[in-house]
Amino acid sequence: MRAAGRPAAPSAGRGLIPIRTLRFLLGDQLTRRIATLTDLDPDHDVVLMVEVRAEATYVRHHKQKIAFLFSAMRHFAAELEAEGIAVDYVRLDAPGNTGSFTGELERAVARHAVDRVVVTEPGEWRVWEMMQGWRADLGPPVEIRDDNRFLCPRADFAAWAGDRRSLRMETFYRGMRRRTGLLMEGGEPTGGRWNFDPENRKGLPKGHVVPERVGFPPDAVTAEVIALVEHAFADHFGETDAFAWPVTRAEAITAFKHFLAVGLPTFGDYQDAMRADAPFLYHALIAPALNAGLLTPEEVCRAAERAYRAGAAPLHCVEGFIRQILGWREYVRGLYWARMPDYAASNALAATRDLPWFYWSGETAMNCLAQCIGATRTHAYAHHIQRLMVTGNFALLAGIAPAQVEEWYLVVYADAYEWVELPNVHGMVLWADGGVMGSKPYAASGAYINRMSDYCRGCAYDVAKKSGPSACPFNYLYWNFLIRHAERLADNPRLAMPYRTLARMDPTKRAAILDDAARFLDGLDAAPSAAPADQGSLALAAPRSDPARRPARDTATTASRRKG
Ligand SMILES: Cc1cc2nc3c(=O)[nH]c(=O)nc-3n(C[C@H](O)[C@H](O)[C@H](O)COP(=O)(O)OP(=O)(O)OC[C@H]3O[C@@H](n4cnc5c(N)ncnc54)[C@H](O)[C@@H]3O)c2cc1C
Ligand code: SF4
Repeated sequence: MRAAGRPAAPSAGRGLIPIRTLRFLLGDQLTRRIATLTDLDPDHDVVLMVEVRAEATYVRHHKQKIAFLFSAMRHFAAELEAEGIAVDYVRLDAPGNTGSFTGELERAVARHAVDRVVVTEPGEWRVWEMMQGWRADLGPPVEIRDDNRFLCPRADFAAWAGDRRSLRMETFYRGMRRRTGLLMEGGEPTGGRWNFDPENRKGLPKGHVVPERVGFPPDAVTAEVIALVEHAFADHFGETDAFAWPVTRAEAITAFKHFLAVGLPTFGDYQDAMRADAPFLYHALIAPALNAGLLTPEEVCRAAERAYRAGAAPLHCVEGFIRQILGWREYVRGLYWARMPDYAASNALAATRDLPWFYWSGETAMNCLAQCIGATRTHAYAHHIQRLMVTGNFALLAGIAPAQVEEWYLVVYADAYEWVELPNVHGMVLWADGGVMGSKPYAASGAYINRMSDYCRGCAYDVAKKSGPSACPFNYLYWNFLIRHAERLADNPRLAMPYRTLARMDPTKRAAILDDAARFLDGLDAAPSAAPADQGSLALAAPRSDPARRPARDTATTASRRKG
């Protein structure tokens, strides 16, 4: 990549000389169709792209996420240059790199003597606030454009949300189906139903063979970036050996076509299933590419609909897939912008416990957690149910402080950005918003995990046991959660059944639950140096000494992230 070398436009007495625009492209805006580039004039404009330390370290992102983004950025910059567009690309190790968006923007404005700066709104409140500072202080005018990749503009969501206390995804989703015409027949939903979720909850049959992931081994650009990341971010979470993400639009399209042919026809059926030897199952693996701009939400939804209309995939799978993107993805993004920054501050269930250390190390005798965290370290990926019903469910039942759980989710996945991570964790998983997003917490005992996975077969704990040291911790933590939060939750009609069971429960059994939960939670290990107390006599002989398995922790990161 070269620094744009054309002479700057004169800053005074312009007459007919066209304005020179600096188009600042953020690392997750890698599409030619992004608002920043729509009216680009290759003869006069410069595109600025920067690799900055502050963005890679405000939380210690998974190494694969940083490598994915830097590689995708470098490839995209090369594609723009091949089109004859001037790109001023600042590498992480470039001399003079200030390490921050603001510092690099200021330097670029000075380098190019620009008349104005154009940028598209970011995916995080923190950067949004930064952009307001650019408008006030940078010098040349800064135009912040709407992110045109989303199907529901922020303003439209805000108008829909108004000041309602609870915002249900299903209502929003139906509106989006009508608005886009996706899976609609003359004003009615295709197949006569809006939602085919009940068909999408099957466990995997024994011996079921799942398709291979289409992976993209690192090319020279990615290999160079991985070496840089391993050196510059050595203390970050995760491994890079299994890096296989698509880093160009062409690769992302190849991967998505494979999903359309092989994954989509079965996507719905096993959407909620989990298996220890199959981290990807029928999932699309497109979130990193979608969130970075290599694919657009509209094109993947339209392609899925075409597959249904061509008879290549059944309706329950296609509706399930489209709902994730047109529904959930657009909804969480709208909610994030409509309710931030106050949204992140709520803590409806007063959860204050520290995040246990095994979330970083994966070293726990609870096999479901060990498997999900282990795969996350290796692939920077876990699918939705693993995020929601294993790592998320445990955090909810154990009462872990929302900000610490949110930081973990923002660190560990290749697709993690605050606009999508925060509502999913704060609202869906932890119910910290007190019901803005979900009508009830997604709390579940070990029975759910056992039904949907094979994890319990390889676990040191017994999922059938309800109490005692060898009982599955999810079992007593589930009832403990309901007991602790009875004042808040007992009247919730969607929790009527478990609260009826609780009311009938033998007092000795109830006392045993509280004792087991207290013993277990008191033994949870939030620090790296202590013994693996959660595991008691069931401890697996996993080494805790390998420093490469731990991210260095910076307790200041969560607070500073919120403040910007
Ligand atoms: C606690 C928690 C945290 C999450 N954090 C993130 C995150 O940081 N970034 C992220 O992109 N997704 C996040 N999700 C949503 C979802 O888990 C991932 O998008 C998905 O696992 C990505 O894998 P995939 O591409 O194979 O998805 P698939 O299962 O194949 O689904 C297809 C697409 O649907 C969209 N989608 C599905 N569910 C959701 C959802 N709940 N919210 C938003 N989009 C959704 C994604 O774009 C995904 O790529 C989170 C979910 C939970 C429960
Ligand atoms: S027994 Fe409990 S802790 Fe072990 S894998 Fe099953 S659900 Fe997880």
